[in-house]
This record gives sequence, structure tokens and C-alpha cells, in this order.
Amino acid sequence: MDDKIETACRICGYDDGDAVFNEYGAPQYVICPCCYNESGIGDDNVSQVRELRGYWVASGVLWHDPKFRPADWDLVKQLANIPPEWR
Ligand SMILES: [Zn+2]
Repeated sequence: MDDKIETACRICGYDDGDAVFNEYGAPQYVICPCCYNESGIGDDNVSQVRELRGYWVASGVLWHDPKFRPADWDLVKQLANIPPEWR
């Protein structure tokens, strides 16, 4: 069951270990401090996810809450957290 819990943002891959979708696939409505998406809002189909991600990237990969941004932040590494079905 545990392996179905999603902790990474589907849009940007930010992952602080807290569930954004629970083991039943239900969104936890967590607002991402990085891309500012809320889990469950507009991220339930892959074309919307890609659209939101594209918009975020095109806008300059801004952090909504920069204090969460690690000093050694690596965008590509973070994007790799995105579950394969949401890439
Ligand atoms: Zn995000």
C-alpha cells in the first residue's frame, strides 16, 4: 500500500516527504512551496500536469516560497522525483 503514496509534486517534483496523494490516490490538497500547485487541483490528468509544468518552467522555475529552496537546489534532480506516469 505504502508504495502508492505520492510525496513528490506532480508538476515540479518537489518532495519533502509529506503525502500529496495518499495510498488511495486521493489528493491531500497540499500547496507546493516550489511551483505553487495544489495537489488535486489541475494535476489529475497528465496533459494538464504537462501544461502546468510547461508554464512554470517558461515562467523561470520560480519558487513560490523561496525559503524552502535548498542552497544546492538542482532543478533536474528535482524533476526526476516526478513519478514516471506524470512526466
Ligand atoms: Zn510543485
